[in-house]
Amino acid sequence: MSARRLAFERFPGMASDLALCDCTTWRVGGPAVALRPGSRGELADALGVLGDEGVPWFVLGRGSNVLAPDSGYDGVVIILSGVLAGVAWQRSDSGFAVDAGAAAPLPPLAGAACMKGAGGLAFAAGIPGTVGGAACMNAGAYGSSLSGLVESVEAVGPGGTVRIFPACECRFGYRSSSFQAGGWVVSGVRLSLPAADPALLRAEAADHLRRRRETLPLDMPNAGSVFKRPPDDKPPGRLIEEAGLKGLSCGGAMVSRKHANFIVNTGEAASADIVRLIEIIRERVEAASGTTLVEEIVYMGGRDLCAREGAR
Ligand SMILES: Cc1cc2nc3c(=O)[nH]c(=O)nc-3n(C[C@H](O)[C@H](O)[C@H](O)COP(=O)(O)OP(=O)(O)OC[C@H]3O[C@@H](n4cnc5c(N)ncnc54)[C@H](O)[C@@H]3O)c2cc1C
Repeated sequence: MSARRLAFERFPGMASDLALCDCTTWRVGGPAVALRPGSRGELADALGVLGDEGVPWFVLGRGSNVLAPDSGYDGVVIILSGVLAGVAWQRSDSGFAVDAGAAAPLPPLAGAACMKGAGGLAFAAGIPGTVGGAACMNAGAYGSSLSGLVESVEAVGPGGTVRIFPACECRFGYRSSSFQAGGWVVSGVRLSLPAADPALLRAEAADHLRRRRETLPLDMPNAGSVFKRPPDDKPPGRLIEEAGLKGLSCGGAMVSRKHANFIVNTGEAASADIVRLIEIIRERVEAASGTTLVEEIVYMGGRDLCAREGAR
C-alpha cells in the first residue's frame, strides 16, 4: 500500500497532502503526505502503524535545517501539532523548570524566557526552529547550545514506546544528538533555566538579533549554516569566502554574498541545484585549504534523492 493511501485510510483526521516547499525555509521540495499528530498518544499510534507497515517517515519541525527533494518524499512526513506545541513553566529553587512540547517554536520560547528572567535561552531568540528540531540538531549560537539547558528529553519510539532520556543519554555534541540516527521522535524537552535579570536577558537577545540582521541573508530563503564548523579550523564561511565562492550560483541556488556559509534560493532553486552547489563548494574549499567541509543541513530522504531532478 502506498504511504499516501495508508495515511489517509488509517488516519483520516490526521493526514493531509502538502508541498514541501511550503514547509521548509529554503522554499524547496515537492509533494508529500503528512500526518499531524496532536498528542503523544496520536504520535505513538502513527509510529506504531508506520512501523508495522514498513512505511518510511521523516519528522519535520519548522524545516529550517532541511533540504527537501523536488521529486517529493515517498513516505510519511510527521509534523507535530496540538498539545505537542505547549509550554509549561514552573518556578524552581534556582530558577525555572520548563516543559516544552517538541512542536513549540523556539523564538517565542526564548522571548518568554527573557521576559520572565529565565536565563540561558537568549542565544535562541533568532533560531527559527522548533524545540524538537533544536534538540535533534543541538542548536546553538554565540557559545551556547540547547544541550547546556536540557534536563531530559521525552521521545516516542518505533513501536509507539514513550521514553524519557536524561540529557546524559542523548549523546549531545556539536550540532548533533542521538536523535539524528532516527527511530525516535522527540515529543518534549525539560529545560532547567537559571534565574537571571530580565532586563539583561532582553538586552542580550536584542543584541543577538541585531547581529543576525547585520550578518545573515535573512531577506532570502535559506536553511541557516550549510556546513558545520570544522574542528581546529576557520569557520566555514571564512573558508568559502577565501576560496572566492561568494555569489557563485547553480541554477537558482547561490552562495550568499552576505554570509558565505549560507546558500540562498534566488527564486527558482531546485533541490538538485543546492546539492550541486554544495558539492562544488566542498571541492573548491578542499582544493584551496585542504579542509573537507561536512554538511550541517539534513537531506530529507537522503542526498541522492535531493540530487535528482524532479517536477517543480
Ligand atoms: C535564518 C536561519 C538561522 C539559523 N541560525 C541557526 C543558529 O544560529 N544555530 C543553529 O544551531 N541553527 C540555526 N539554524 C538552523 C535551524 O534553525 C536549527 O537547526 C533548528 O534547530 C532546526 O529546527 P527545525 O524545527 O526547523 O528542524 P528541521 O529543520 O525541521 O529538522 C532538522 C532535523 O531535526 C529532525 N527533527 C525535527 N523535529 C524533530 C523531532 N520532534 N524529533 C526528532 N527529530 C526531529 C528532523 O528530522 C531533521 O533531521 C538557522 C536556520 C535559519 C533558516
